[in-house]
Amino acid sequence: MDVPTQAHLTTLRDLLLYRRRELTSDVHAAELTRQAAVSSSPATEVSTHAEGAAQFAQAEVDAAQEQRDRDELAQVDAALVRLDQGVYGDCADCGEAIALQRLMAQPAALRCAACQVAFEHRPGAAAHRA
Ligand SMILES: [Zn+2]
Repeated sequence: MDVPTQAHLTTLRDLLLYRRRELTSDVHAAELTRQAAVSSSPATEVSTHAEGAAQFAQAEVDAAQEQRDRDELAQVDAALVRLDQGVYGDCADCGEAIALQRLMAQPAALRCAACQVAFEHRPGAAAHRA
C-alpha cells in the first residue's frame, strides 16, 4: 500500500508550508499592486478610452489570478488542518486513502484521482477545478 508514513507526512507538511509562503507573498504582492494602481492612476489621468480599457482588462486578469491564489491558499490551509487532525490523505468523497504519488504532486488534494475526475465532470463544477 502506498499510504503516507510519518516521514511522508512530514515532507508533505513542508511542501504545504512552502506553498503557503509562496501564495501568501503572491496575494500580498497583488494587494500592493492593486493599491499602487488605484493611487497612481485616478480616472482623470486616463487619456484615452482605449488606454482605460486596457488597464481595466489587465486589472481583470490580475483579479482572477489573485482569486485563484486565494482559493489555493484556502485549500492549503485546509490540508494543514487535516494534517493536524490526523485525517490528512483521506478522500473527502469516498473516504479511501489518496495515493501518495498524488499527494506528493498536489499536497492540498482533497479527493482521490477518481473522485476528482468525477467532481470536475459534474455539471457546473468546471469553475471550481483545482
Ligand atoms: Zn475518492
